[in-house]
Amino acid sequence: METPGNLFVVAAPSGAGKSSLVKALLELDSHLQVSVSHTTRAPRGQEQHGREYWFVSPDEFQAMVHRGEFFEWAEVHGNRYGTSRVGIEQRLMAGDDVVLEIDYQGALQIKQLFAHAVLIFILPPSWQELEQRLRRRGEDHADVIAQRMGNARHEVAQARHFDYVIINGLFETALFDLKTVVHSQRLKYVTQRRAKSTVFTALDLA
Ligand code: GDP
Ligand code: ADP
Ligand code: 5GP
Repeated sequence: METPGNLFVVAAPSGAGKSSLVKALLELDSHLQVSVSHTTRAPRGQEQHGREYWFVSPDEFQAMVHRGEFFEWAEVHGNRYGTSRVGIEQRLMAGDDVVLEIDYQGALQIKQLFAHAVLIFILPPSWQELEQRLRRRGEDHADVIAQRMGNARHEVAQARHFDYVIINGLFETALFDLKTVVHSQRLKYVTQRRAKSTVFTALDLA
């Protein structure tokens, strides 16, 4: 599906800093909107329904799957997560840029639907640092952290299917890299022709 808006998909193993980076990016970039996923996982301490996620029961999630309401969904760390069609399609058609914070399985499904989607993988600087971040975040039980560390090896191996890789060592450097990827996409010929059509017309380039 071709849309005037750009679609960015950010994936990472749990704890690599994906949500922190995307949150910081959104604060700097008013043309970008994040899609709020549906999940069957329980909310963490400060999480709010409709802000971090739409928290739904497994039955509600299944009903949405049956009604075809998701662009993609996947089972991750024992819970289900999905990107609903509502909102995103309209925003992209209206020319807005959208970012999805989803796992690699979802990212690869999205690439099948939106060939122009830009896939970005966030890597931690080391396994040790990844585990420390999960612990320091202090939101998950030890067994959940162990499960996420166990899944991380396979997730990281999927980075080779992505367009860009950002190593989140120093946060500010990684944020700069993320901004650069978004900016580069907006400077592509086809994107510029769409966004700056009056200039292109004036220059007889249309
Ligand atoms: P985090 O990894 O610490 O951010 O933990 P979360 O519980 O928020 O997310 C768990 C996994 O589900 C991560 O890999 C997310 O990227 C992924 N995820 C979140 N939303 C979606 C979604 O809408 N679709 C898919 N496919 N994956 C999602
Ligand atoms: P994810 O969304 O990928 O699971 P988070 O954004 O929740 O990861 O980050 C995991 C933890 O690591 C959080 O406590 C966050 O504050 C911290 N963190 C994120 N990026 C960095 C970084 N570059 N250096 C140190 N800590 C970081
Ligand atoms: P957490 O439970 O820590 O918030 O997220 C765990 C994983 O689920 C993360 O890798 C996150 O990106 C992924 N995730 C969140 N929302 C979605 C979604 O809508 N679709 C998919 N496929 N993965 C998601």
